[in-house]
Amino acid sequence: MKLYEYMAKEILQNNGIPVPRGAVFTGVEGVEAFIEKTGPVAIKSQVLSGGRGKAGGIKFATEPQDAISKVQALLVTEIKGCQVERVLIEEKVSIEREIYLAITIDGAKRKPVLLASIAGGMDIEQVPEEQMIKRFIDITIGLQPYATREVTRQMGLKGREAQQIGDIMLKLYQVFRKYDAELVEINPLVVTSTQVLAADAKMTLDDDAVFRYLPEVPWVEEKTAVEKKAADLGISYVELDGDIGVMANGAGITMATLDLLQHFGSSARNFMDAGGGSSLQATAAALEILLSTKPKALLINIFGGITRCDEVASAFVQVKNTLDLKIPVVIRLIGTNEDLGTAILKEQGIESFKNIEEAVTKVISLQNGGGANVHNYQ
Ligand code: GDP
Ligand code: MN
Repeated sequence: MKLYEYMAKEILQNNGIPVPRGAVFTGVEGVEAFIEKTGPVAIKSQVLSGGRGKAGGIKFATEPQDAISKVQALLVTEIKGCQVERVLIEEKVSIEREIYLAITIDGAKRKPVLLASIAGGMDIEQVPEEQMIKRFIDITIGLQPYATREVTRQMGLKGREAQQIGDIMLKLYQVFRKYDAELVEINPLVVTSTQVLAADAKMTLDDDAVFRYLPEVPWVEEKTAVEKKAADLGISYVELDGDIGVMANGAGITMATLDLLQHFGSSARNFMDAGGGSSLQATAAALEILLSTKPKALLINIFGGITRCDEVASAFVQVKNTLDLKIPVVIRLIGTNEDLGTAILKEQGIESFKNIEEAVTKVISLQNGGGANVHNYQ
């Protein structure tokens, strides 16, 4: 479960990591009074995705009126598809340097790892991996001061600053363990002329451990409105930020489909594991959900085991006639009754593929507006 920045910061602060003075607002009431106390502020939209700065979700203001209009504007904005419902207003800190610190789990090594870089800030993704300092942590020993001293030395930090940042690393590890976190991240950890503070914070808790921390840690609903609707219908559905809507029947085939899209240079807008069902209602609901997030094209990948390809094909044909499909759809159909299924689609002028690689390259070419030898609903 991901926590909002303001929740993560409260946890950091309660565990001895300094954060800027701030307050959460759901409207403009109290904003003026707050700014009169603090002076210039950073106004930060609270959404669960990162990269808010680049997406326009972080604003600065000095005058109360300016702050109020920025708060109003942010509260009706979507950042990366998420409606902003709250903003965190903080005193603006003057940054001398931005540092990156995180602790997460390295699945392959089966250990927590401390990640640190002196090139923190919004371009952290561009820092080459070899420049990111990694220190694996043996959980039977924990993160020890000698280890953090080594890390701060590798970062080129000295004196009081090295001490303060090393101390924050130790506290960050305590937080990581105390809350069964999968990730705690401070980016940037800012160095000002007088202090070191966490200007941004992210925390992800292990879903299976969250119950231990409720209600001290508030429950965070991570599903989007569409994901909630899908869950209510018993459909496993996940939204991503690529271009192609994906429906497949089974977890393995769904993951393989996503990998192939990536391999051939595209990515999924969303994906749905349609499971073993092929009923008309389920197919209609599934397609409607997939289309609601406006993918550029749709890829349906069905392996008929228990599911029969002819049933899937008939359901698709019927649903297609009731839905206003404006995007290209590519279907790959293989398994039980595949010839029947292929024939049903063909009758409607819909070509289907048996080979998944062909289907994937086809859908990618259609997404890019190319290729016309497959049925195109535009
Ligand atoms: P993110 O883009 O979602 O990671 O949001 P951040 O909270 O990290 O903010 C993005 C960037 O805005 C940071 O890297 C800082 O450069 C800048 N920023 C955030 N808060 C402050 C602040 O209080 N003062 C100043 N000067 N810059 C800030
Ligand atoms: Mn950040």
